[in-house]
Amino acid sequence: MNPLDLRGVQIRYGRGQTAFAAVAGVDLAVAVGQTHGLVGESGSGKSTLARAVVGLQPVTGGCIRVSGTDVTNARGPALAHLRRRVQMVFQNPYASLNPRMRAGDAIGEALRIHRSDLPAATRERETADLLALVGLDPASAGRWPHQFSGGQRQRLAIARALATGAPVIVLDEITSALDVSVQATILNLLRDIQRQRRLSLLFISHDLAVVRYMSDVVSVMHLGRIVESAPTDTLFSAPLHPYTRALLDAVPRLGAPTGAPLRLAGEVPDPRAPPSGCRFHSRCPVGPQVNAARQSCISNDPVEQLVGPGHRIACHFHGLAAAASTVDGGATAL
Ligand code: SF4
Repeated sequence: MNPLDLRGVQIRYGRGQTAFAAVAGVDLAVAVGQTHGLVGESGSGKSTLARAVVGLQPVTGGCIRVSGTDVTNARGPALAHLRRRVQMVFQNPYASLNPRMRAGDAIGEALRIHRSDLPAATRERETADLLALVGLDPASAGRWPHQFSGGQRQRLAIARALATGAPVIVLDEITSALDVSVQATILNLLRDIQRQRRLSLLFISHDLAVVRYMSDVVSVMHLGRIVESAPTDTLFSAPLHPYTRALLDAVPRLGAPTGAPLRLAGEVPDPRAPPSGCRFHSRCPVGPQVNAARQSCISNDPVEQLVGPGHRIACHFHGLAAAASTVDGGATAL
C-alpha cells in the first residue's frame, strides 16, 4: 500500500460551457521513502494537483488515497486522517507562516494539534530539536517570521510540516524564490531528512535539474495530463515522449540524450480549450505538424502504456522522439 496514491484524478474549473479540466485524469503513486518529482511548464496543472492532494482544491473525478484511506474531498475523520498523514510546503514560506506567531509557537502549535498526547515539556524539547534538525538555532524559537531570511523561513516551514509527523510531504516549488546557493542548502537538507525519516515526497518544480537531483521517479505533466513517467535515470537518459525530450533539450547543460535537439513550436495552448486528441499535437515536433500521416494524433487521445520497468508513456508514436533529427532550425525529419 502506497502512502499516496492518485487514480484518474480530475479537477475542473468553472461551470457549464466555460468549465474546463485543469487536471484531466492523473494516475500517480509515491512509495515509502521515495521522492516523486513532478515537472511541467507553467499551466500544466501540477500545482492544482498538489493543492488537491492536501485537500485545498476540490476534486471532480477520480480518487486520492492516503495510506489506503480514500481522502478525496475529505471531510470529518477522513480529513483528520489526511492532515495527519500529508503536509505541504509552499513556494512562499512567508505567506504560509502566521506573521503574529513566533517560530517556536508555529512548530508547537503543529505538535499540539497533531500529537496532542505530548506533555508541554516534551513539546518544548521537540520544538528545539526540530529547529536544530532544519539548521536553525533553537534559541531562535522566540523570533517572529519577519526576522528570518527567506531560506530560514523555508526551513521553518519544513520544521512545522515535520512536527505533524506526516509521512508524506508535498513540496511545491519550494526553492524557486530563493537564491541559488540557498536553494542548494535547502535541497541537501531535505534529502538528508527524507533519508533519515523515510519520508515520501511529492516534489514539484519547473526546474529539471532540481527535479533530477531530488527525485527517484519523475512524472512529466502537460496540460493536465501526465505524458511520461519513469525512474529518474531512465527519464533523463532515454526520454521517449516528444514533450519530455523537448523539455530536456531546452536545458543545454543537461544535454540532448540522442540526436539533434527537438524544439517546441508555438505557445502552450489555452487549457480552457485544449487541442483534440493528443493535447500536445499542435506543438509536437514529431506529430501531425511535421508528418501529415499522423492524423491519429489529432483524432485519438493516446492511452498511457507501460514501455519498460516503471516507464509509462502516452503517445501514439513513442520512441520517434528519441530517433528524431532536427533540420532547418526546428523542422523535424523522421
Ligand atoms: Fe506527438 Fe502524436 Fe505522440 Fe502526441 S501522440 S506526442 S502529437 S506523436
